[in-house]
Amino acid sequence: MTVQMTDPNVPVLSLRDVVKTYGEGDSAVHALAGVSLDVNAGEMVAVMGTSGSGKSTLLTIAGGLLAATSGTVSVGGVELGRLRVKGLARIRRERIGFVFQDFNLLPSLTVLENVALPLDLAGQSAAGSRSDARRALAVVGLRGRGASYPDDLSGGQRQRVAIARAIVGRRRLVLADEPTGALDSVTGDTVLQVLRERADEGAAVVLVTHDARHAAWADRIVYIADGRIIDEASSARPEQLLSGGAR
Ligand code: ADP
Ligand code: MG
Repeated sequence: MTVQMTDPNVPVLSLRDVVKTYGEGDSAVHALAGVSLDVNAGEMVAVMGTSGSGKSTLLTIAGGLLAATSGTVSVGGVELGRLRVKGLARIRRERIGFVFQDFNLLPSLTVLENVALPLDLAGQSAAGSRSDARRALAVVGLRGRGASYPDDLSGGQRQRVAIARAIVGRRRLVLADEPTGALDSVTGDTVLQVLRERADEGAAVVLVTHDARHAAWADRIVYIADGRIIDEASSARPEQLLSGGAR
């Protein structure tokens, strides 16, 4: 078991006044201009905004893949900026699942090996990581496809493998950057459903999306423009819309 118990009163993800500037001088791009955001266990937050507004930068910094220019990022109460390379890598492996826009699957590994990789890297036994990976593949509707290679799959199936890799081993923070971008709407709904279930099971989920229909699966929607949060709304979940209940 690689997941550590954390204090339920501490947000799984906490960003404070996060600034990110790419480059310097005349060519500097202010991608994030002071973003603060908390995401609690059991909560799914959708981030919406136009292209270039800073959504991917926000997610990459939240996942510890990129350092903020200033401000702090904490995952489970641990401030990422204070960690050394090894400690940061460990937090990323053990606590954070990332779904990239371009899937980022390794073509030379089988589907099962791709999904099991984070657990293998975290030092889990091969048998344990394979069985967890099989379970994650079943969740995304790819039971029995573990021996295939990414190149043998359709775009939608590959995206579901990427989702399986992000949820395997029950990591507490799941970050997904437009995970339904290339998918037909049926596959897209499956992906959303899986992310929603992970939140209902206690993970914190941050989803970047263009699609208001997808954002409706979240508990909260955060709107970002020019690197700032400009608005926030609670979202009525689809089943509550159907039953006429407000959240
Ligand atoms: P979004 O995901 O909302 O489309 P991004 O976070 O990708 O926005 O980009 C925010 C801004 O930062 C854009 O102006 C983009 O051109 C710029 N940007 C993103 N990545 C880099 C980078 N590696 N170097 C320089 N500028 C970047
Ligand atoms: Mg983006």
